[in-house]
Amino acid sequence: MNVFVIGGAGYIGSHVVKALLKDGCSVTVYDNLSSGLEQNLFKNAKFVKGDILDYEKLLEASKGYDAIIHLAAFKAAGESMIKPEKYSVNNITGTLNILNAASVNEIKRIVFSSSAATYGEPSYLPIDEDHPKNPENYYGFTKLEIERFLAWYDQLKGIRFAALRYFNAAGYDPEGEITGLEQNPANLLPVIMEVAAGMRSELGIFGDDYDTVDGTGVRDYVHVTDLADAHVKALHYIDDKDESLTVNLGSENGLSVKQIVDAARDITGQTITANIMPRRPGDPAKLVASSKKANELLKWKANFSDVETLVKSSWNAYLANKK
Ligand code: UDP
Repeated sequence: MNVFVIGGAGYIGSHVVKALLKDGCSVTVYDNLSSGLEQNLFKNAKFVKGDILDYEKLLEASKGYDAIIHLAAFKAAGESMIKPEKYSVNNITGTLNILNAASVNEIKRIVFSSSAATYGEPSYLPIDEDHPKNPENYYGFTKLEIERFLAWYDQLKGIRFAALRYFNAAGYDPEGEITGLEQNPANLLPVIMEVAAGMRSELGIFGDDYDTVDGTGVRDYVHVTDLADAHVKALHYIDDKDESLTVNLGSENGLSVKQIVDAARDITGQTITANIMPRRPGDPAKLVASSKKANELLKWKANFSDVETLVKSSWNAYLANKK
């Protein structure tokens, strides 16, 4: 299959490109390099530097492809509450440009990076796809709205989509081929890695009085290589079945902040200074996925999402950058 990967130079996108190439696809990456990195590009994939807000360029560049994988978005939940305009323009307008280009160019398959942020505060656990959707932040709202646009373009234009609701993406390519580090990360694991690598002085643990195993927040961390594998499977699914799908992608295993910090201290051998801070607004105590639907429909399961592989593969990427 001839696949156009928008945001393919990013953290998740580069892992998806690797999985597509392994699967035998020919791949073109379209990325504006705002957070994507040239370091993440593969020699055997084509690259077009372009922005999803540049409709003419996008329309021209995406001609002739069998499928689009769309991973280009801003993703900082906290920032989205302060700068919603930025998220409206890039995430929503940008995606509408992609859908309109797909429509004009008659591309009938699209795999979209959605998020567990579409659910908001959980009313039960584990969270399945039927769980109520009440995003707690504007970022999650943009993802939910895009899912609704996708459903309309499916109905009206026959564009089949896979909306993949990622839980907490983490880890790096276990084969060590992808080592591009995210700049100014706010997510837990890269922040811990920056402390371990001496790039920042300490980790703030946002609350230790939650009703969880040790009082710190529990999340479902899913390895980026497992996510990448799900993109390939989802693409084949919508192609074979000619049917859209929306699925959760999580490990179904909850890990607390403290559990990850302890594992990181063990694996890196570094002290990793951590201080308890106030809770972060909008943070639920615990989020864990049910990935039953992805197991059943895509025959997908998380294989690399144990805490050791998550931390070790991340640490190896940070060590590779220190050389
Ligand atoms: N967290 C933390 N300190 C940090 C970043 C995150 O204690 O510097 C906690 C956060 O409160 C949550 C978990 O780590 O319980 C995962 O947060 P992250 O921002 O990585 O992902 P989110 O679940 O918010 O999408």
